[in-house]
Amino acid sequence: MTSMLTSVNGCKFCDIVKNKKELQLKDKNTCVVINDIKPKAKHHFLVVSKQHISKPTDLTVADVPLLEEMERTGRELLREQLKREGEADTVEDMLRIGFHLPPLLSVHHLHMHIIYPISDMGLISRKLTFRPGKVFKPARELIDQLKEDAGVPDPLEGNPAKDDLHDKIPAQAIS
Ligand SMILES: [Zn+2]
Ligand SMILES: [Zn+2]
Repeated sequence: MTSMLTSVNGCKFCDIVKNKKELQLKDKNTCVVINDIKPKAKHHFLVVSKQHISKPTDLTVADVPLLEEMERTGRELLREQLKREGEADTVEDMLRIGFHLPPLLSVHHLHMHIIYPISDMGLISRKLTFRPGKVFKPARELIDQLKEDAGVPDPLEGNPAKDDLHDKIPAQAIS
C-alpha cells in the first residue's frame, strides 16, 4: 500500500480535494473528478485520488481497487455528459484513459486523465504528450502491470479465447 499520508501542504490537488467542493464534478469514497484546466478534447477530466499519492510509479497491487474506482467514476461522468448532450454512448476507440509518467508529470498527486473524443486532440497531444507509451500510461496497462508484478494469476489463463487478446493493435497505431 502507498503512504498513509493523506494530505500534503501546498499540494494543489490536496487543496482541491479538501477545500474546493465547487470544482468537484463527482465525489466518491476514494476520488473526486475535476475538469482539466487545459482541455485537449471536448471532454477532458482528471480523476484525482483523495489520498496524496505522488505518482503512478508509487502504486502497488493494493491500489488496484482505487484505480478501478477512479476509472469507473470517470467513465460514469463521461456517460452522463454524453447523455445530456444527446450523444451516443461512449465509443471505446475514441476514449483515452491514463496517467502521465515522470518527467512529463506536472502535478505530483495521482490524477487519471479521461479524454474524449481523441479525434479532438491536436497533433502534439496525439503524437507526444498523450500518446500511449513512455510518457503516458493507459490505465488498463497500469492495472495489468501491477497485478502481473505481484504475481496475481491471470483469470484468462487456460481460456481458449485468451489468444485472441494477443492481437491487440499496437499503441502507436492508435495515436
Ligand atoms: Zn496532494
Ligand atoms: Zn497529467
